[in-house]
Amino acid sequence: MTKPITSGLKTTIPVLLLALTLGGCAGKMQPAEGTLSTRDLNEQLVMATLWMQAAAEFRALSYQAFNIATVNLDAFLGAYTGSKPVAVIVDADETVLDNSAYEAFLIGQDFGYSSATWDPWMAAAQAKAMPGAREFLDFAAAQGVEVFYVSNRKMVGYEGTKKNLESLGFPFVDDKHLLLRTDSSDKQGRRDRVAADYEVALLLGDNLNDFSSDFAKKTVQQRFAETDKLRGKWGTRFIVLPNPVYGDWEGAVYSENWGASPAEKDRMRKSLLEKWQYTVPK
Ligand SMILES: [Mg+2]
Repeated sequence: MTKPITSGLKTTIPVLLLALTLGGCAGKMQPAEGTLSTRDLNEQLVMATLWMQAAAEFRALSYQAFNIATVNLDAFLGAYTGSKPVAVIVDADETVLDNSAYEAFLIGQDFGYSSATWDPWMAAAQAKAMPGAREFLDFAAAQGVEVFYVSNRKMVGYEGTKKNLESLGFPFVDDKHLLLRTDSSDKQGRRDRVAADYEVALLLGDNLNDFSSDFAKKTVQQRFAETDKLRGKWGTRFIVLPNPVYGDWEGAVYSENWGASPAEKDRMRKSLLEKWQYTVPK
């Protein structure tokens, strides 16, 4: 996982005093603009993170993705007549690794994702396997298909990532196949390097940047349009894993303004909700 560092403490003492004053005046008042803390914003992670950890539907979707990948890879190999060796490209975070415990750790804290806590999380090597990932990767390896892990984890996390993937029993965890971020977050260069020597049968990811750079830095509507353009690839060449917690989609919601205050982010999030216009009868 690599996402821009979110702003930390934004609440100044004068604003805090104002909030306390307003709170004393009217208990049901919403927090004034600027008084929303990162802790408040982190509360919005609760349902999405809980869904990853407590909903069997999340497990079912993960199994579904890897089952589709297995069927498609098998069909690909049955029809393949090329001379290049075959490979699959997988993302790491929220594709074959489940980092929901890190997200859960942020809930209740007054800071967002940052390298100060993400680096120790990578080093701890405690991410779980996404359900069905090991079985699919083992299937690929048994068919002679090489697995390339193209991840935007930075090189500072290389040893921890390797340890984590190895501890889960994943195949091809070595310098050749573990391609972390060294410069650009755009994965196209790494995908191209793999494709120079291999026939890439499938790509698996939770973020559209895992499939094509056409999705980079686009608005919400542009991401929809690009997704529609490639509609025949979803579930065939591109296999998507569910990640409701974070991703490039969030940057699109902020128009890439990751440095916005918690209050601004809250406002931007809610401004995109399409609401039913209805007045409840008295
Ligand atoms: Mg990912």
